[in-house]
Amino acid sequence: MTTETPAVSLEAKSPYELRVHLGDGLPEQTVREALASGDMGFLHSFTTGSAVDGPGVRLVAWTSGCMWRCRYCHNPDTWTLRNGFPVSISRATEELRKYSHGLKIMKGGFTLSGGEPLMQHRFAVKLLAAAKKMGVHTTIETNGYYADKVSDAELEYIDLVMLGMKTWDAARHKHLVGLENGPTLAFARRLAERKRPMWVRFVLVPGLTDDLDDLAKTAEFAAGLGNVERVEVLPFHQMGAYKWERLGLEYTLEDTQPPTPELCEQACEVFRKAGLKAY
Ligand code: SF4
Repeated sequence: MTTETPAVSLEAKSPYELRVHLGDGLPEQTVREALASGDMGFLHSFTTGSAVDGPGVRLVAWTSGCMWRCRYCHNPDTWTLRNGFPVSISRATEELRKYSHGLKIMKGGFTLSGGEPLMQHRFAVKLLAAAKKMGVHTTIETNGYYADKVSDAELEYIDLVMLGMKTWDAARHKHLVGLENGPTLAFARRLAERKRPMWVRFVLVPGLTDDLDDLAKTAEFAAGLGNVERVEVLPFHQMGAYKWERLGLEYTLEDTQPPTPELCEQACEVFRKAGLKAY
């Protein structure tokens, strides 16, 4: 019996395409084995030509499954592992191989994003290792919560970590995403100790993450690490709002406006003042 879903296209126009229930038919035992071995993963999609998910032009694999529940998540359909479609590591590697030559020529690379890619850490490590073997630059976008499941040796398969940092204050963090930020901070320190390149990603949401004093603490922490090459301040937007409605989830940000350019600049300034490059 094949466990894949050949009828579903691996590629999507964008991660904002709503994809649900694609892995529903799989027996629980198969899912457990896939997670343990990494021979099969669950993907929302692949997208090509991204210029915002790492250096240069990127092929991005969007995984399904996330342990956080960020109030401003743009892709809540990726929260559930089984919303993704099952794909074998060999099929995912072949997809990567199709683009590897072009990615190298364009000085781009492969990015594993989600969802939270380390929910499927065995699959993630295998796919990143395959990309490295092809000589393709590798990036992971992660919240770092499960990073202790990746060994130091396996970290070497990752050329760049784009770490999502949400807020400094522990109570606010829990309110925003449902879990604490300790593991994320611990991963940042570990990457710094190992001198692994890191970018910080920070979503700026008016009324939720725009406390400049709180931001200054995140900035001070990031600047003290010594391995943060840049900070990306990402303005909140409503492009994923329709997904909350379609999934029957309670969305609390209907009335929240994207931050003004002035507020974005203020936030960048906080990071720059700490000595970091921020965009
Ligand atoms: S960590 Fe990312 S995928 Fe997970 S809930 Fe937050 S924004 Fe969504």
